[in-house]
Amino acid sequence: MLNNYGTVTNSTIASLEGIVGEKNVLTGEERENYSGDESADVGCTIPDVVVRPADTVSVSRIVKLANEQRTPVTPRGSGTGLSGGAVPIYGGIVISLERMNSILEVDANNFTVTVEAGVTLDSIYQTTAEYGLYYPLYPGEKTATIGGNVSTNAGGMRAVKYGVTRHWVLGLEAVLPTGEIIHTGGKYVKCSSGYELTQLIAGSEGTLAVITGVTLRLMNSPGKSEILFVPFNNLHDAIRTVPEILREGLLPVGIEFVERDILDMVEEFAGLEIPMNDYAAYLMIMVEADNEDEILSISNRIGDICLKSGAVDIFIPGSERAKRNLLEAREKFYPAMKHAGILGVADIVVPRSLIADFVEQSKAISEQHGLPLIACGHAGDGNVHLSLLGKETETNREKANQIMSLIHESGISLGGAISGEHGLGILRKDYLRIAAGKSKIELMKRIKLAFDPNNIMNPGKVLDLD
Ligand SMILES: Cc1cc2nc3c(=O)[nH]c(=O)nc-3n(C[C@H](O)[C@H](O)[C@H](O)COP(=O)(O)OP(=O)(O)OC[C@H]3O[C@@H](n4cnc5c(N)ncnc54)[C@H](O)[C@@H]3O)c2cc1C
Repeated sequence: MLNNYGTVTNSTIASLEGIVGEKNVLTGEERENYSGDESADVGCTIPDVVVRPADTVSVSRIVKLANEQRTPVTPRGSGTGLSGGAVPIYGGIVISLERMNSILEVDANNFTVTVEAGVTLDSIYQTTAEYGLYYPLYPGEKTATIGGNVSTNAGGMRAVKYGVTRHWVLGLEAVLPTGEIIHTGGKYVKCSSGYELTQLIAGSEGTLAVITGVTLRLMNSPGKSEILFVPFNNLHDAIRTVPEILREGLLPVGIEFVERDILDMVEEFAGLEIPMNDYAAYLMIMVEADNEDEILSISNRIGDICLKSGAVDIFIPGSERAKRNLLEAREKFYPAMKHAGILGVADIVVPRSLIADFVEQSKAISEQHGLPLIACGHAGDGNVHLSLLGKETETNREKANQIMSLIHESGISLGGAISGEHGLGILRKDYLRIAAGKSKIELMKRIKLAFDPNNIMNPGKVLDLD
């Protein structure tokens, strides 16, 4: 049995204390803080023990011990994940990377930053800005660690122009389930030197290795940025506008879409005032350029396309404050919906030209089953977040599971994938059988076992081995 694990004994605790010191081994109530993540519909499991190493050698010694004793290990960043990936479902040891939070080097000549995996996104933004450099991704939550971002291949609101986390990862330091430490990639921009382990570990959700260090690519800061907030009378027109903008060769940083119900929730939850808040659907289009003239020209061209495609108006915030207000509203979509009560969130990605069809099919499915569904997401990259609203009751749970299953089938049949950015974790791993054939799943299992023959590394996430 690959999930028949050894128990954490007093002697294990003593060994862990020997590695990281007594105060960095948590066995009391504090473990609750390491038992869940930010998903609305995943429970919590309290681990047997939480360890907080301060360096890679300690991580290696902990993992080696766990492997010898066949104890499950769950790597954890800030716990902001939305798929249950950091929930230690088999108990065991949670390795929290919170103390590995140093920026090791900003290399302005090579446009790179090298950090420990527990560094937060916010800290990367602040430090690189001091050098006039820029890490352009923004996966929604600044308190997340870069180790977590790499592990989930986080995307976010700027992926239309800049792609996702894996596109900015040049190299990793990682501890394998045996305790061996490996270094992949480096401060170079091209490489054709055997299997691409950096990209295999990126997006593996802590199931192949503990990432302890990350080298990221950087760019020069763009000169100017702007946001267009564009109301429509219906969601269909809003989403249909997206390919029109992209076809013109205009490359906004991001194009987000949202239904009005979500804005109402944000206003109530966060006390924010949202301009022009009485239309059915909105696009929020973010642009960047080197100078004011260029940004004005791009904004005008995008504005014209939106108006031709049925937009009611175009709102361009006049001040940094108004811009910040809009971005803050965007950041609150998920917390506001979670507060209102959601039974599930889909993170499906479909080809961009099919978003409108997909959202319409999904709404029809949820309507047939009698639960309301609201939509928002990253329209510019085809990543749709569909949230099922309702109270947690037995009947609603049954309906929600049915709807989610049908919606995933619909997304896959349109040529999409189960998760655009949040990962499979425990929430979405069952849909893998819809999306991947037997051969592909068996290959994934063999890769997992090649890294982790005892299945100790974040077991029960992404795929089940038996
Ligand atoms: C309000 C809100 C908005 C969000 N918006 C977005 C968004 O727009 N786009 C997006 O992509 N995500 C978004 N997220 C999700 C979240 O921020 C990401 O999933 C993030 O990448 C997780 O980082 P973390 O440090 O919190 O990791 P955790 O939640 O702690 O862990 C996530 C997964 O990574 C693994 N892991 C963590 N650290 C390591 C490590 N060092 N080595 C190996 N495995 C590790 C864990 O085992 C787990 O499987 C949002 C979350 C919230 C709460």
